[in-house]
Amino acid sequence: MNSILQCLFSVGPLLAYFAAGSFKSDLNPSSCNKGLLARAFADIAREAMDADGAHPPVIAPSALKRQVERWAPQFAGYDQHDAQEFMRFLLDGLHEETNRGSPTRFTYTDAEFDALSDAEKATVSWNRYLRFNSSFIFDLFGGQLESTVTCLACGHKSVTYDAFWDLSVPVAAAHAGRPSAPFASLCDCLDAYFAQELLDEGYRCDACKVPRPAKKRLRVMRAPHVLVVHLKRFSVSPISGLPERKLDTPISFPLDLLSLDPFASSLAPPPSHAQHHPYAQSPSPPSSGPQSPHPCILASPVSVPGTPPSPVSPVSAFAAPLSAPASAAASRAQTPHARRPWTYSLVAISNHSGSLGGGHYTAITKSFDDLEWYSKNDSSATRASTSSAAACASSAYILFYQRTPA
Ligand SMILES: [Zn+2]
Repeated sequence: MNSILQCLFSVGPLLAYFAAGSFKSDLNPSSCNKGLLARAFADIAREAMDADGAHPPVIAPSALKRQVERWAPQFAGYDQHDAQEFMRFLLDGLHEETNRGSPTRFTYTDAEFDALSDAEKATVSWNRYLRFNSSFIFDLFGGQLESTVTCLACGHKSVTYDAFWDLSVPVAAAHAGRPSAPFASLCDCLDAYFAQELLDEGYRCDACKVPRPAKKRLRVMRAPHVLVVHLKRFSVSPISGLPERKLDTPISFPLDLLSLDPFASSLAPPPSHAQHHPYAQSPSPPSSGPQSPHPCILASPVSVPGTPPSPVSPVSAFAAPLSAPASAAASRAQTPHARRPWTYSLVAISNHSGSLGGGHYTAITKSFDDLEWYSKNDSSATRASTSSAAACASSAYILFYQRTPA
């Protein structure tokens, strides 16, 4: 729990939204928990904000814990719960309590929707999701994926657009792609996630009207401002559905200049301003030579110690919409998910060390006060170098990246 809180608090706009009290005007009176989770979260956010810096506090989130347990008894006690499940639960809860959306009827019939172009479907699906789910939390963490299923018998394509809150990328498949390498990279994991997948059973083709073998491919249509990447280290038993094995495969990941652009839908708008980016790729198409970095990283894969810290303060970059609580429409206008390039810097890592049953979570987070990295466990916070942020790769479990303003 603390690991996830520390990571979330290193997302400047989220911390500011709660610590500065902006969330209060968004509290949804009809939410089942009456804003208690959001208020408890805000109390800890204020503590974290007041004390961030050279000696980050050891937060004691007992009030928040009580709210979480009230709402989700499965998180009771002091067991180490799966950090990703807890994070999803917490963000869902905070989203629900600050949801400005209101249930209204969907204005398209199925037939009308089917007749739309793919680009129109993407927009209509996004707007429909936002009508029900409009919160500052979703503005930060939400994105949209395009899923294309192609029937292998007749070639019929079926395209759907769904909102996503994080990406759960396969570690096993990424490492299987390079069995001789001592480690896999985040790009390998993203490649595996966005690779064409064979659907072996049960897909019913709309054109053939019978089950057909098909292939499925995911692409990013709209990118989130905070990209949460969950490295699927726990393999799940196909029989019990419970985790049965943990993969300690070291994963390398970039501190800066992670790009989602290689995974963009062909319908996403082309990147703009890329030529002004200091590390922008050359205009020539990415070479496939063995020396060239993966296109999802715009510079070297791991920042070397001594690299100047990112000049962008996460708080100041998003300060405008926070200072005056914006209307849903205005805040959406200020958070253009579709605008590219989609470039990210790492702000936090939730680490899981140890075995399947007896593991322990810690966090390494970047302070937006001094832009230094801190290693945090339940009772202490110590300065970490950027090289140790990268070296913790075999325990890295959830990565938090924040969009670099274009
Ligand atoms: Zn077909």
